[in-house]
Amino acid sequence: MSDKKIPYKIYLAENEIPKQWYNVRADMKNKPAPLLNPGTLKPMTAEELAPVFCEELVAQELNNDDAYIDIPEEIQNFYKMYRPAPLIRAYFLEKALDTPAKIYYKFEGNNTSGSHKLNSAIAQAYYAKKQGLKGVTTETGAGQWGTALSMACSYFDLDCKVYMVKVSYEQKPFRREVMRTYGASVTPSPSTHTAVGRKILEAHPGTSGSLGCAISEAVEVATTTDGYRYVLGSVLNQVLLHQSVIGLEAKAALEKYGVKPDIIIGCAGGGSNLGGLISPFMGEKLRGEADYRIIAVEPASCPSFTRGKFAYDFCDTGMVCPLAKMYTLGSGFIPSANHAGGLRYHGMSSTLSQLYHDGLMEATAVEQTSVFEAAEKFARVEGILPAPESSHAIKAAIDEALKCKETGEEKTILFGLTGTGYFDMVAYEKFNDGVMTDYIPSDSDLQKGFDGIPKFPGNEF
Ligand SMILES: *Cc1c(COP(=O)(O)O)cnc(C)c1O
Repeated sequence: MSDKKIPYKIYLAENEIPKQWYNVRADMKNKPAPLLNPGTLKPMTAEELAPVFCEELVAQELNNDDAYIDIPEEIQNFYKMYRPAPLIRAYFLEKALDTPAKIYYKFEGNNTSGSHKLNSAIAQAYYAKKQGLKGVTTETGAGQWGTALSMACSYFDLDCKVYMVKVSYEQKPFRREVMRTYGASVTPSPSTHTAVGRKILEAHPGTSGSLGCAISEAVEVATTTDGYRYVLGSVLNQVLLHQSVIGLEAKAALEKYGVKPDIIIGCAGGGSNLGGLISPFMGEKLRGEADYRIIAVEPASCPSFTRGKFAYDFCDTGMVCPLAKMYTLGSGFIPSANHAGGLRYHGMSSTLSQLYHDGLMEATAVEQTSVFEAAEKFARVEGILPAPESSHAIKAAIDEALKCKETGEEKTILFGLTGTGYFDMVAYEKFNDGVMTDYIPSDSDLQKGFDGIPKFPGNEF
């Protein structure tokens, strides 16, 4: 189809919003390694996971077999408030780059939480409500997940307790107020409310916190408070499953115009948006029906894929969660306070880790200043002020488009624009003032994190 016929924004009709999520694990020959009980080193059973997570979410977490899982009608209805998300042809960016590449982005920032995280938050809140729980606890880094979850909890009238990484709590008071407006309680982490928080504070006085610490606190509160469960905004298989709505919509929108991407790019923190975006494409690749180049983009300051170890590790600093096999920098790794809070996690989804390990996708690490240069360019030509996390994907997409300019290849690039950056203006201010720095951990910095990865037979790395 001629390019001219492809609209700037491709919207699906309301009745084309997916009615089922796609579970990429069903098509993986090498399944992601199971979560292990840190005491017995045996795979976690549904019974063992039940005190921490909602029942139906445990079932989704352990389901490696069903390729499609129905999206309950209540969730489909909520999705209608802000979905379908537009798939946008970046004509203006292409022109600015003078590239023959065709660039598309799937924009997930069209909701108050400002990111894709609402896609899973509403699902997790729904299952908690269905189980008759009083509320849920969680961690939040930059605040997007906490915001999404507080919106979802308020919709289903559930209590929501958020442990927010201290540095973000202080840097982003406005995010905190959005959460409180939706009825959530927000506590800076590490806090003195929990045993694990007090322990971390004793070991690291004055710490600015990390996602790993906040997870430990939220899990402790969930497991010691009647009628509460813990929910997590990324990393887990269930979250990737819910986020597959991104990829399913993107694929359907492209297919309407007969477009097939050559390269698919997403930023990677815990891997949920990237996992969701690529899932249906990866499914085709796994089934031998199509081939795509898939690129994960991570910050050079927190390089789980590109410099991490593929090993069983704790998901949290307090070591209260199950062990997950993933690319990890060690649960004790506390990344420098870079401005892409949503990408500051020491580990990576075990599903994506397995796919990466099997050579089915690539990864690249980019430096903060170059990410903001890309963000600025994008904002000026495409109009959307991107989140710093999303801008990692923009940076890699621009780099690929510029390679096409050199070679003259007309490749089609699809990337995930996960959210907007209105709450990240301190970061933009640093960039605009020319005082933003790039921090790349040395090998010996990373070694300290690796030293904390648990050692047991079969976990050599
Ligand atoms: C949380 C977040 C990310 C990173 O999380 P993933 O689970 O890796 O997707 C990326 N972009 C935005 C806007 C976020 O809020």
